[in-house]
Amino acid sequence: MTPGPMLVAVNFHYVRPSFEARFEAIHGLTPEQFGRQVETLSRIGTFVSADDIRDAVAGIRTLPDRSIALTLDDGLREQYDHAWPVLRRLGVPAIFFINTDPILNRRLSTVHKIHLLRSEVAPEHFLAMLHRHGDALGIRLARGIDAERARVQYEYDTPEVARLKFLLNLTLTAAERDRLIDRCFEEHSDGEEARISQTLYMDAGQVGCLGHERAIGLHGHRHLPLGLLSPEAAEEQITLCSAHLEVLTGYRPFALSYPFGERQACSSQAAAVAARQGIEFAFTMERAGNHDLGQPLHLARFDSNDVPGGKRPYWSSELFFASAPAATWCRDVPAPVVADSVAGQPS
Ligand SMILES: [Zn+2]
Repeated sequence: MTPGPMLVAVNFHYVRPSFEARFEAIHGLTPEQFGRQVETLSRIGTFVSADDIRDAVAGIRTLPDRSIALTLDDGLREQYDHAWPVLRRLGVPAIFFINTDPILNRRLSTVHKIHLLRSEVAPEHFLAMLHRHGDALGIRLARGIDAERARVQYEYDTPEVARLKFLLNLTLTAAERDRLIDRCFEEHSDGEEARISQTLYMDAGQVGCLGHERAIGLHGHRHLPLGLLSPEAAEEQITLCSAHLEVLTGYRPFALSYPFGERQACSSQAAAVAARQGIEFAFTMERAGNHDLGQPLHLARFDSNDVPGGKRPYWSSELFFASAPAATWCRDVPAPVVADSVAGQPS
């Protein structure tokens, strides 16, 4: 089969002028770095919008050869403040994937509470806090983390940070992690969750403004791994998010980014639920290219670090489109061993 025009998607999270913090836990790009990377990417392909992809999926028109879709996940206010002006200046389309619960209810997603705690609390103190609240809540935490396994899993981190991430991401169920982190965050932030949420996430007006540009997609009502929820719970996450976004933007968004984006979070069951709720295409975090649009609910996507202009690109600008392998996650995956464990990096 002849390969179709390739679509490469690229995902961004934090874009802020400074990443200074007590502890290095939040990674991303400054607006200048973001602008430089967008310019680098503009030299290797053609940027496409949500509507372009939608029309291509529907067979109404084809995408340009070497298409690039830029996505920004989690509805972070800094994306509106610092990435959106760069995109507007360069005339580049993008899709912002929004969680609606943090915006409507002024809460913080667990994944962001973890980032904030890690940036403000030393890893050994964070571990002690987790054990203390774990004891109080009756959640049994693994005492002896296998240091070698933690090191292999998180090779770029210090041993303490690797232990912390291992404990949080790989030994707890999502429900246990939520309860524990809620307690830790409450203790640390002294009831400031609503105020912090206001500074971290976009507000309704900002989402409406991006909606006016048809640059909005769904990331679930809460930031939960759809593939690891029951079909009913996954459906609720999509319908709530969809209904709220329709009110905020005036149109029904049709694009989804699976929260967390790892393989189990993007199961065929989650894709089927999404399709039933009117989702027309969806991005995973499978690091691959999309050689065709035959499986629109499993479009692969790179992290911004992985592509030209990023910190550790897989291939050079010249070779990127020729080298990116085809997406495969549309094939069914085995059931997870632990019902609701999920890797902890946000997506
Ligand atoms: Zn996310």
